[in-house]
Amino acid sequence: MSGFDILIVGAGIAGASAGAHLARTHRVAILERESQPGYHTTGRSAALFSEIYGNESVRALSRASRDFFFSPPDGFADGPLVKPRGALYIARAEQREEFDAFIAAPDVAANTVRVSADDALRRCPVLKREAVAEALYEDAAHDVDVNALHQGYLRMLKQHGGQLVTEAGVTSLRYSGGMWMADTAAGEFSAPIVINAAGAWVDEIAKLAGVSPLGFQPLRRTAVLVPAPDNVKIDAWPMVIDVAEQFYFKPDAGALFLSPADETPSPPCDAQPDEMDVALAIDHIERATTLSIRRIQSKWAGLRTFAPDRSLVAGFARGAKGFFWLAGQGGYGIQTAPAMGELAAALVRGEEIPSHIVAHGVDIRELSPERFT
Ligand SMILES: Cc1cc2nc3c(=O)[nH]c(=O)nc-3n(C[C@H](O)[C@H](O)[C@H](O)COP(=O)(O)OP(=O)(O)OC[C@H]3O[C@@H](n4cnc5c(N)ncnc54)[C@H](O)[C@@H]3O)c2cc1C
Repeated sequence: MSGFDILIVGAGIAGASAGAHLARTHRVAILERESQPGYHTTGRSAALFSEIYGNESVRALSRASRDFFFSPPDGFADGPLVKPRGALYIARAEQREEFDAFIAAPDVAANTVRVSADDALRRCPVLKREAVAEALYEDAAHDVDVNALHQGYLRMLKQHGGQLVTEAGVTSLRYSGGMWMADTAAGEFSAPIVINAAGAWVDEIAKLAGVSPLGFQPLRRTAVLVPAPDNVKIDAWPMVIDVAEQFYFKPDAGALFLSPADETPSPPCDAQPDEMDVALAIDHIERATTLSIRRIQSKWAGLRTFAPDRSLVAGFARGAKGFFWLAGQGGYGIQTAPAMGELAAALVRGEEIPSHIVAHGVDIRELSPERFT
């Protein structure tokens, strides 16, 4: 039996970022089922930071995370956490309505410039002209070094005396005498507070603890890496995103990362790519560009787990003392991690949300689990 102040279930980006902050003031143990903490969704993302992606509440969290990405604390990482990428949103003629709806949001309009088809083709020369009736460019979109971000948080956790326990899948959670007791493959752990940051498994963890699940839905998304076309320099291309998010592609370490932006409901699991989705990714890219994909370098899938309203969730569960939700990171868990980690730590400590986060429009009521009750 190991006694702590706080147990965190899950060492993905959500658990790692909150744990790093909480370890300054509490004895924290992160319990992770896998031997590698980034094995599930955190290690499978498209690694983009965009302030115009997601609903209003998500966009506010991304804005509030921006400063951390651009100037992390000294010693957090060996190199920069972000590098310029740019995002080019394209719409075909029949997608004009979606395009108009997209640019109607004031912060989308403020963070992008409308560009001509010529300009779009100059930025990504393989695009077919008929695929670009309208285009919008977000200069501030950046690639994130997800591994550096995740490892930075885990290092911060350990520097403050926190522990990461891998191969410690939680198999039971019960509350007794003011303590949560967790049985894991690595032994029993106890603490008065447990943070549920189990990604696709958050509702399963709630059920183990006797807490009502909130209706999270894991949705599978497929990624495919293909070799860059011969004799074409692709490194400076932006991420190209269909305005209705039917597909996207971007350069990735000398290769091309494609996704059909699929959202297939799935039970929590070690997600694997479906051949149909891989074929769909290739079909979308071949329709929108002059590329012809002959070889696949690698493919994978990950689960993006959403609350019913697609906003993130942070807060104590009603009627279950010390049980804290940190869930529903959906397709935004990387780009919102700096603000969510800090905000969750403040809520767990019973403190006010830091003013620099509130200043970006983050409204804690929109993140509270109370909104579902
Ligand atoms: C293809 C794809 C593209 C994406 N692109 C982006 C992007 O560009 N930008 C962005 O911000 N986000 C993106 N995302 C989303 C982002 O990756 C996720 O929001 C984020 O990684 C979720 O982190 P997490 O910590 O909640 O979950 P996870 O990383 O899945 O971590 C949860 C952890 O909990 C552990 N766990 C579960 N049950 C137990 C248990 N019983 N005991 C112990 N441990 C347990 C799991 O093993 C896992 O390690 C993308 C996702 C995908 C799949």
